[in-house]
Amino acid sequence: MPIYEYRCNQCRKEFNELILNPREINKVKCRYCNSRNLTKLVSSFSVHQTEAARLANFDTSKPRGDDFYKDSRNVGLWAKKRMKEMGVDLGPKMDEIVEKGRTGKILDEYDK
Ligand SMILES: [Zn+2]
Repeated sequence: MPIYEYRCNQCRKEFNELILNPREINKVKCRYCNSRNLTKLVSSFSVHQTEAARLANFDTSKPRGDDFYKDSRNVGLWAKKRMKEMGVDLGPKMDEIVEKGRTGKILDEYDK
């Protein structure tokens, strides 16, 4: 879904707009003060896409070197992918699990 994030240059507040019709983009007004003086931010939609793509391209069977673990985002990503492969659906608890993955504790629990 095309969700756009805006920052109002008038009142400095940020808000999301769901835009179904591309023509609506020029009609977007600040939700708080109706100003049209807006700055478009990175859409949350594309951020999720990127993570999904990273996840899909990720191969957990390949050995990971020190460089890999220097990027904490990769550790969380690995944990998520691993969960998916094991068919574990943790829902809202996923963030907690990922956090464990970042600290290495997840290995203690799932290598048994
Ligand atoms: Zn505003």
